Amino acid sequence: MKQSRREFLGKSIAAGAAATLIKPFNILAGNNRKMGNSKLVLRFKPYTLKLKHVFTIATYSRSTTPVMLTEIEYDGVVGHGEASMPPYLGESHKTAIEFLSKVDLTQFNDPFETEDILDYVDGIAPGNPAAKASVDIALYDLVGKLLGKPWVKIWGYDENKTPYISFTIGIDKPEVVRQKVKEAAPYKILKVKLEYGNDKQMIETVRSVSNKPITVDVNQGWKDKHYALDMCHWLKERGVEFVEQPMPKNQPDDIAWLTERSPLPIMADEAVQRIPDVIKAYGVYSGINIKLMKCTGMREAHKMLNLARSLGMKVMIGCMTETSCGISAAAQLSPQVDWADLDGNLLISNDPFEGVKIVDGKIKLNNYPGIGLKP
Ligand SMILES: [Mg+2]
Repeated sequence: MKQSRREFLGKSIAAGAAATLIKPFNILAGNNRKMGNSKLVLRFKPYTLKLKHVFTIATYSRSTTPVMLTEIEYDGVVGHGEASMPPYLGESHKTAIEFLSKVDLTQFNDPFETEDILDYVDGIAPGNPAAKASVDIALYDLVGKLLGKPWVKIWGYDENKTPYISFTIGIDKPEVVRQKVKEAAPYKILKVKLEYGNDKQMIETVRSVSNKPITVDVNQGWKDKHYALDMCHWLKERGVEFVEQPMPKNQPDDIAWLTERSPLPIMADEAVQRIPDVIKAYGVYSGINIKLMKCTGMREAHKMLNLARSLGMKVMIGCMTETSCGISAAAQLSPQVDWADLDGNLLISNDPFEGVKIVDGKIKLNNYPGIGLKP
C-alpha cells in the first residue's frame, strides 16, 4: 500500500526525534551506551592527607588535613571528587559525612543536568562549601568522561596557556625558610606567607637565596592601612607581584583606600567565597582568589571567573592542601587566570591520584577526560 505523505512525514519526524534523543548521547559517550534507567549514585569516604612539612600561617600550624573522597557512578562510569577541610574553615569529616548522607542523587537520571543537580545539592543545607565541592567535582568529572573530553576543552580554553604555579613558603625560622626556597627550585614563582612583625625579615630571607618573582599572602595580618601601603611600596621594590588579603576582610573601606594607592594589585582571598562576594569585592580589591573548596566547586568557580573578568578584575586560582583530584579540577580553569596557586598536592605524601603535572614550573594539562585524572 502506498504510504501517504502525512504518514511518511509523521514516521520521519518520530524517527528523527528518536535519533536526536539517542544519537548525541551515544556519540558523547564514545560507545554504544544508551540512555536507560541508570541513576546517579554517590559514594564517599573520609581520608587524611599527610603533609610533608608542618604548615604554618599567621594563626596556627598543623601536619595533616582531613579530606573526603567522593565518587559518582552512572551507567558504569565513575567521576571522582574531593572535599579538603582545613580545620580553621569549620568543616570536618563529621560535618561532611552528615551533609553527604543527605545527598540523594538517585532522583536524577541525567548527569548532564548539572545546574539542577547542583542547585539541589546547594539547597540541602547552608555552608558546607567543601562537601558541596566534593559532589560538584565528581559530577563534572563524570560528565567530562561521558563527553570524552577534559573540561579545559569543554569550556573552550587553550590548554597551552596555563600559568606558572607559585610554590608556598610558610612562616618559619630563617634557616627553614632558606631550605624551603631551595626545595622550591623547580618552581618559577614563590608565594611567601607574611605576618605583621616579621614580614620584612621573611622577604629579606627569601631574597638572600632567590631572585625569583614573589607573591605575598598576608592572611589579614596588617591592621593599619598606612603601614600596609608602606609595605606595598617596599615589596614592589623587591620584586613582589601582588599582595593577597593584606588586611582583615571586615575593613573594606581601608582596603579600598589601599587598593587605590598601592603600586601592587591587592587580591581578595578570605573576603571572597562565593558569587555575591565577587560583587562586594569590586571596587575594593584589584582581583579575587577563587578556590573550589570555598565556592562549592567547578560550576561556581567558572561563574565567578567569568563575572570577575567581565568586571575587569584580576583572577587567581588557589587551593587548600588537596590531592591531585581537587588540583586537577581547578587546573581546568587555569588558562583563564592571571596567577595559579595550585601546589596543594605537592605538599602531601599520600596522594591517591595522579592528575595534571607541573612541568618546568608550569601546569601541564593532560588529555584525560573529565577533570584530568589518570584512569
Ligand atoms: Mg590566601
